[in-house]
Amino acid sequence: MSGYEAVIGLEVHVQLRTRSKMFCACANRVGAPPNSQTCPVCLGLPGALPALNAEAVRMALALGLAVEARIQPRSTFYRKQYFYPDLPKGYQITQGPVALVEGGDLDIPGDPTVRGATGPVRIRLERAHLEEDAGKSHHEAEGQSLVDLNRAGVPLLEIVGAPDLRSALEASEYLKTLHRLVVALGICDGNLEDGSFRCDANVSLRRSGEAFGTRVEVKNLNSFRFVRQALDHEIQRQAGLLGQGQPVLMETRGWDALAGETRAQRTKEAAMDYRYFPEPDLPPLSIESTEIEAVRASLPELPERQIQRWVEVHGLGLDEARTLAQSPAFAAYFETLARLSGTARGAAAWLLGEVSRTLNERGIGIEAFPLSPESLAGLVALVEARTISFGAAKDQVFPALLVGEGSADAIVAAKGLAQVRDRGAIEALVAQVLAAHPGPVAQIKGGKDSLRGFLVGQVLKAGGGKVDPALVQEVLSDRLANA
Ligand code: ADP
Ligand code: MG
Ligand code: ZN
Repeated sequence: MSGYEAVIGLEVHVQLRTRSKMFCACANRVGAPPNSQTCPVCLGLPGALPALNAEAVRMALALGLAVEARIQPRSTFYRKQYFYPDLPKGYQITQGPVALVEGGDLDIPGDPTVRGATGPVRIRLERAHLEEDAGKSHHEAEGQSLVDLNRAGVPLLEIVGAPDLRSALEASEYLKTLHRLVVALGICDGNLEDGSFRCDANVSLRRSGEAFGTRVEVKNLNSFRFVRQALDHEIQRQAGLLGQGQPVLMETRGWDALAGETRAQRTKEAAMDYRYFPEPDLPPLSIESTEIEAVRASLPELPERQIQRWVEVHGLGLDEARTLAQSPAFAAYFETLARLSGTARGAAAWLLGEVSRTLNERGIGIEAFPLSPESLAGLVALVEARTISFGAAKDQVFPALLVGEGSADAIVAAKGLAQVRDRGAIEALVAQVLAAHPGPVAQIKGGKDSLRGFLVGQVLKAGGGKVDPALVQEVLSDRLANA
């Protein structure tokens, strides 16, 4: 990118999966009829008083502990004032200069094209603070806008990352890592399309070693792919400006996925003065060490730890392991399948292959996959034991399992798919094929090793596609060596 280095920092808004809203007892759930989940507090009626949700605090603590941040024993809430139709109070309650969670870091796979080497890089977090969400405006046809306040007052954890990312790829890796973490912690449902996990990206360019340049904030990034595309586009745009000697303006831009470009929304000069001041209706938030220890004791095994364990204990590739850890449900399915089938590598291959393909085709998650790990393990184990070939397993048994034709064993028996693994029978076939092809046999002895594949193919064919290829290779090698 013509001598420039990209500098990126992400601000992520995580909607917390609490039962009730941040400062009132209204239910925190999506899909309810518009404005049915509201009360005087979240409607901002005069005289209504907020009360802090302890569950939201525990969820923020869980994130803080998972990233090894400094938990602040005392933090305060502030009012951030602005006017918008979906903000009935006229201000948002958010945290002030000191956040509940300060610092911490996340290890992500570095981008070798900018780091000069493969391997993890450590991205620092600036802070994570609690705040409340606004409602939602629905812009209807005929110039009508409707406001739904069910989301007003839903708890958010804003996680502000340091400007430590150096490419669009690193930004999407950071987001994936953070997403895996909040879902595994059980604090967020992780639904990007519904906006439960939202990201704003700040990006600037500089010549390496120089001070940071002017940053642009890109909004409306609701998929990992959009983050990558939008940042790649924005980096090119800024490089183009700087290359022509023009300044980059400090502004907010939105990603237009259809046009494949970012568009100016507002300049920072026009940004509002929020007139922050301490929220008089809420006392400072004090955290006892007993509370911290209780949350620490309840943390699950973290995804990064799990990924490392699978690589070390099961010999999986890092990318494979990361994909398997995409959600707690997927990870749990993998663990059970690996245990029941007795082969972690086989379990991983099936999940990343046929199972993922089926999920994509049907547009469902692993939660809705029709086969239990028990049922799939039967099939994985048959392939591992070489009772059936992988091809037969994939093309015949797996589809039959999916439509409920019985257990893998029963399907293999009914369709007569078991491989011939009787050495005597295979030796007979090999002898027959060698006798029928004296030319190739002589050529192999003369050093033309590439003809072995031809002979293996002839034996498999003679066996009607039901002989174990590994055993055929073994017998054939023996015969050729001793002939
Ligand atoms: P604001 O209050 O305007 O949002 P912050 O200081 O909170 O500003 O920074 C917001 C985000 O911008 C952080 O994620 C940070 O990493 C990122 N950031 C700050 N400076 C730069 C820069 N020069 N280039 C890219 N990102 C930056
Ligand atoms: Mg900010
Ligand atoms: Zn309410």
